[in-house]
Amino acid sequence: MIEIEEKEKGKEKVEEEIKVVDEREKRLADWVPKTELGKKVRVGEITSIEEVFKENKPILEPEIADALLQLEENIVDVKKTTRVVRAGRKFSFRVAVLVGNRNGYIGLGTAKDAEKWPAVNKATNNAKLNLVKVGRGCGSWECTCNTQHSVPFKVTGKNAAARVTLLPAPRGVGLVAGDNIKDVLRFAGITDVWCKVTGATSTKLNFIRATINALSKTTEMKASNAIVKKMERR
Ligand SMILES: [Zn+2]
Repeated sequence: MIEIEEKEKGKEKVEEEIKVVDEREKRLADWVPKTELGKKVRVGEITSIEEVFKENKPILEPEIADALLQLEENIVDVKKTTRVVRAGRKFSFRVAVLVGNRNGYIGLGTAKDAEKWPAVNKATNNAKLNLVKVGRGCGSWECTCNTQHSVPFKVTGKNAAARVTLLPAPRGVGLVAGDNIKDVLRFAGITDVWCKVTGATSTKLNFIRATINALSKTTEMKASNAIVKKMERR
C-alpha cells in the first residue's frame, strides 16, 4: 500500500469562508443534546461560553459552540490523498477547518473522508470541540489605549518544527505576520501584533497549530511584572 499526498489544485480558492447562518439555526432547532452540559445550554441554564470555560467543562457536542457563539468557518487546508490498492486508486480528503468568533475564541479541527464535503463537515465539528480561549490586551509600552487589540504579553507556540512568537504591538501596527498566521489572529479578534517564526514555512498546518498553541498561552500565563507595573501606573 503506497500513500501519495497531493496538493489539491486551486487550493487557495477553497479558502473562502462559508456562510452557514441558516444552517446553524436549523441545526440548533433539531438538536437533541446528549451531554449534561448540552442539556443545560439547550434549556438556557448556561448562556455564555465564559461559564463553560470558567468551570473547565469539556465541549463534547458541536452544537454547544453553535448555541453560545456566532462562529465563522474557514477551510485552511485540503490535502487529497491517493491510496494505491489492488483494484486501482482510492482517493480521500484530509481537511483542516478553523473556526472563530473574532472575539477571543478560536478552534482548529481536522478530518478525513472519501468525499471532500463530508470531510469539511467533520473537521468543522471537530474544530468546535477544540475551542481555545484567547486572552487579549493592549499590552504594549508604546500604546496606552487599554483596549483588547493585541496579545497581552509575549507568547511562543510550537508544533513539530514550527515555532511562532507573538509580541504585543501598539494600535495601528496591523498584523505583521505571514498569511496563515494572520487568518488565525483575525479569527481570534487580534488586530495588531508582531510575529516571529522559525521552521519550514511550507508546512502551513504546523504554523497554524503553533499560532493556536501560542494564543492558548495568553490565558495560561500570568501577566509579567512589566505588565503589572504598567497597570499600577494607571
Ligand atoms: Zn493599545
